[in-house]
Amino acid sequence: MSDTWKTRTKLVHEGSRRSQYGEMAEAIFLTQGFVYPTAESAEARFLKTEDDEFIYARYGNPTTRMFEERIAALEGCEDAFATASGMAAVSGALTALLRAGDHVVSARALFGSCLYVLEDVLGRFGVEVTFVDGADLDAWRAAMRPGVTKAVFFESMSNPTLELVDIAAVSAIAHEAGALVIVDNVFSTPIFSRAVDLGADVVVYSTTKHIDGQGRALGGVVCGSREFIRKTLEPYMKHTGGSMSPFTAWIMLNGMVTLDLRCRAMADSALKVAQALEGDARLARVIYPGLESHAQHGLAMAQMASGGTMIAFEVKGGKDAAFKVINALEVIKISNNLGDAKTIATHPATTTHQRLPDDQKAQLGITPGLIRLSVGLEDAGDLIADLKRGLDLI
Ligand SMILES: *Cc1c(COP(=O)(O)O)cnc(C)c1O
Repeated sequence: MSDTWKTRTKLVHEGSRRSQYGEMAEAIFLTQGFVYPTAESAEARFLKTEDDEFIYARYGNPTTRMFEERIAALEGCEDAFATASGMAAVSGALTALLRAGDHVVSARALFGSCLYVLEDVLGRFGVEVTFVDGADLDAWRAAMRPGVTKAVFFESMSNPTLELVDIAAVSAIAHEAGALVIVDNVFSTPIFSRAVDLGADVVVYSTTKHIDGQGRALGGVVCGSREFIRKTLEPYMKHTGGSMSPFTAWIMLNGMVTLDLRCRAMADSALKVAQALEGDARLARVIYPGLESHAQHGLAMAQMASGGTMIAFEVKGGKDAAFKVINALEVIKISNNLGDAKTIATHPATTTHQRLPDDQKAQLGITPGLIRLSVGLEDAGDLIADLKRGLDLI
């Protein structure tokens, strides 16, 4: 609404629309459709003479639109389209853009469902995908086929080993080859990553994670130029059915209000927990981009100005030791969501990445002793005590 608004002001007010009642809180428009005063007005809306009017909730809804405008403003994008889940956003962004004969270059370290879309689905429709080590700029360069490579896809911080991709460098390589840069930005959070400023064309979120932040609803969003969102993505999404429901949009709108406060508090605690774990003799390694020991600490600080809200650490003694630590936790919950107010421990090798063959797990650093921690809003001292109690058992 105002170009001068800072992040926290945007998160509270941007995109708000009020009905004739002037309600303070954002209203949930739980309606599939809209009534037109006359046949002429129905005709006019379908002709899209005014792009702001609503026809059918699969195409758009006032509550969903409020959320789209709020996140687009936060990302610094012209527009956004909200989807039913993060995977509807990832698969929608890719399939809306690509056609048979196109080529995609993608980082290898991906969320399991993203890997399924790129590895299994796209190939069935004649799109070829080359996987590269996301941190190796020479590999990105070598994989590009100018004119044929239509998209580059990567998670700006990978799951679960927290490897960063240099968004500015990979975007420059992709743009030289004429490819669009699509970034899955979930692990970096919308607060710590300015992917668009660094050159990304399209930014995708699972709003299930930090944006909801309280584990209530599945959702996703694609942010980009008005041209990409309205001309390429919207026709595909609105006709294939992956739109966000108004009720979910209302949850996400409310999540946005506290997003900056929560991400910063969680990252502050993550740094404290990582510092407390680092050097513990029972651990083989502690991975946190905010620690100087992280191989890409400099890039993390330049790209995110924070280490983020996720930690990974490897317990000596493999799966048995990792399970002992996880089972001893009282405050920290065993689950596989992330970005939640509740701190969550995940054993990737047996859950989120179970499907991968052993050699691929080894290549991605997903060892039997690896535990992924999504740091929440609890007291950092309580979290450290919880983890130390588990470690004392091995
Ligand atoms: C969770 C997640 C997704 C998928 O989001 P859903 O909302 O579960 O569909 C995609 N990418 C990353 C990096 C994720 O963490």
